[in-house]
Amino acid sequence: MVGGGPAGAAAAQRLKAAGADVLVLDKERFPRHKLCAGWITPQVMADLQIEVSAYPHGFLSFRRLHFHIRGPRIAVPCVQHSIRRFEFDAWLLEHSGAEYVQHAVRDIRVVGGDYEIDGRFRCRYLIGAGGTSCPVRRSLFVETLPRTRDLQTATLELEFPCDWRDGDCHLWFFEHGLPGYSWYVPKAEGWLNVGVGGMASRLKRRGENIREHWSHLAAKLQRQFGITVPGHPEGYSYYVRGSGEPMRIGNAFLTGDSAGLATRDLCEGIGPAIRSGQHAAHAIVNGAQFTLDGVTGASLGGGLISRWMDWAFTRGAGMGTRS
Ligand SMILES: Cc1cc2nc3c(=O)[nH]c(=O)nc-3n(C[C@H](O)[C@H](O)[C@H](O)COP(=O)(O)OP(=O)(O)OC[C@H]3O[C@@H](n4cnc5c(N)ncnc54)[C@H](O)[C@@H]3O)c2cc1C
Repeated sequence: MVGGGPAGAAAAQRLKAAGADVLVLDKERFPRHKLCAGWITPQVMADLQIEVSAYPHGFLSFRRLHFHIRGPRIAVPCVQHSIRRFEFDAWLLEHSGAEYVQHAVRDIRVVGGDYEIDGRFRCRYLIGAGGTSCPVRRSLFVETLPRTRDLQTATLELEFPCDWRDGDCHLWFFEHGLPGYSWYVPKAEGWLNVGVGGMASRLKRRGENIREHWSHLAAKLQRQFGITVPGHPEGYSYYVRGSGEPMRIGNAFLTGDSAGLATRDLCEGIGPAIRSGQHAAHAIVNGAQFTLDGVTGASLGGGLISRWMDWAFTRGAGMGTRS
């Protein structure tokens, strides 16, 4: 397994439970920093079969989400959660029971039907769970699964200690022409995550920089919540879901961000990473097909609002090809 994030840890957990010999390679030492708002759905907890009471770190539940769409606010009653990725990912990986070695993977070769990694590790099955820059993708899938620039996101975010007063999650869509949204996600134990994300190619075509949108968000947080953002944000890029095939070549699989599986309406990536990791494990253990059936491409259910959000972000890029 290359990558010990949610996709890798979820696959490792299922493989270990089936008695497989599993090794997870990750370039980082855990707990590691991961840029992410850390919003998770109840489905994520259900897929991982985690009882909230068994999770040992900070965990906050929202009773409503506030969608601000170019001004008007819609408060949607729901149950959603927030975690800190720093804690969540390390716990998931440990919980998987798999052996983990800190190693930055560079070179992958097919040798006698096995995969040889950096001349040091050898395996029969290889799961790529290394995020956007996954070396499994780079080595084995680049030609058969090219990326569509129009599905690439650009993001900036900051997570910091904050004595927040408003414990709900807020999402502001399309403000100042952003082809995406900005967010305010409170976390347990006095943390707050704020950020902006949009479709990179559309920003580029308009000659805009995501940093301008960050400045708008920082001003709004000051105005609306009296919060001064303490420092500079960090950026990361990942892909929303496109045509998605083939995610398997021989005994090599792509999961999560390495496969570009974030939802097209809210750019949610944790749930799809976990499900795709579990599906890869299922395919290995049962000699079954690796499919994305049940790996959602739409956080809002795929109805009219989902489709409108998707269209407004991507203007239909790759439409008709996704499953
Ligand atoms: C700013 C931002 C906010 C987001 N907010 C949300 C949110 O609120 N909710 C949500 O559902 N999704 C969110 N996402 C998306 C979500 O973070 C990702 O989709 C999710 O982390 C994908 O999981 P993964 O396991 O595929 O990859 P990752 O979590 O990226 O894990 C990949 C792992 O591979 C390792 N790796 C990379 N290269 C190598 C190498 N060469 N050798 C060995 N190891 C390697 C990395 O160290 C990393 O640990 C957000 C993303 C960003 C950037």
